[in-house]
Amino acid sequence: MEDSKKIPQHDLESMCNDKSILIENLDLSVVIDFFSQMDRQGPGSEEITLKALNFIDLTGSVGGLRIADMGCGTGGQTISLAHNTSAHITAFDIFPGMIDVLQHRVRKLGLHKRITGVVASMDRIPFDGNGFDVIWAEGAIYHIGFERGLNLWTEYLKKGGYVAVSDMVWLSDKRPAEIERYMCDNVPEINTPSYKIRQIEEAGYLPVASFFLPDNCWTENYYRPMAELFEGFLKEQGQSKAVVEFVERQREEIAMYEKYSEYYGYMFFIAKKLN
Ligand code: SAH
Repeated sequence: MEDSKKIPQHDLESMCNDKSILIENLDLSVVIDFFSQMDRQGPGSEEITLKALNFIDLTGSVGGLRIADMGCGTGGQTISLAHNTSAHITAFDIFPGMIDVLQHRVRKLGLHKRITGVVASMDRIPFDGNGFDVIWAEGAIYHIGFERGLNLWTEYLKKGGYVAVSDMVWLSDKRPAEIERYMCDNVPEINTPSYKIRQIEEAGYLPVASFFLPDNCWTENYYRPMAELFEGFLKEQGQSKAVVEFVERQREEIAMYEKYSEYYGYMFFIAKKLN
C-alpha cells in the first residue's frame, strides 16, 4: 500500500501544470467510435439527474422553458430532462457522431419537437440572444474548464437561471501518490468540493445544492457497460495500435477507481445566477 501524504494545494497546482486532458492524447475517432455505443459517457444515473433537477425552482420563469445540455454525448440525461420537464432542450456536443446517436434516440422516442441536437463547442455555442433557464452539463464542463465554463455561461443564462454541473472532486486532503499523479495527468482540475463552490460563487452564482454521486453511478452505469464492450471493440477494430492503447487506458481508469474510489468521485453542483 502506498503512503498517503498531504499535498499542499500550491504544490498540487504546480504538479499539474500540464493541463492536457486524456482525450487530447488519443486517436479521437477511436474515442468517439467507442463512446458513441454507450447510453452514457460518464458516471451518473437517471435518479441523480432527477435529484439535481429537484433543486431547481423554475416557477418564476416566464414563457417556454429552455434548457441547454452542454456536452450531451448520446443524450442519456437529455432524454431524462425531456421526460421530466416541459422545457425545450438544446443539446450541444462537439462531435457529430454523438449528436447523430442522440438524434436517432430522440426520434425513436418521439421527442424530436422537444430536443434539438446541435454540433458546437460548449464555449462557442450559436447563441440567439434568448437566455436559457437552465444550463446542464453532466461530466462535461472539464473539457473547457470548470471556472472558465461557469464564467462563460452566465452570458447564456437568464437572470435567476440555473447551472447544474457534475465534476470530479477529491474527498480527502490525504491522497496516495499514485492516484495524485494519475489525476494530475488526466483530470488536472480535480479539487475539493469547497474549492469548486468558491469558484461557483466567484463566477456570480448562488450555490443552491451539491451532492456526491453514489458508487453505482460509476460501476453499474458506466464502467460495467464499458468493460462489456472492450472485447467486441478490439475484435471489430482489428486490434489496431490506437484501439489497443485506448482500451488499455480505459482499463487503467477502471482499475484506478477500483483501487482509489474512497479518495475521489463526482459531485453535482446546482447554482443560481444572481444578476
Ligand atoms: N453528458 C454526457 C456525456 C459526458 S462525456 C453523459 O454524462 O453521459 C463529455 C461529452 O462532452 C462527450 O460527449 C464529448 O464529445 C463532449 N465534449 C468534449 N469537448 C466538448 C466541447 N468543447 N464542447 C462540447 N462538447 C464537448
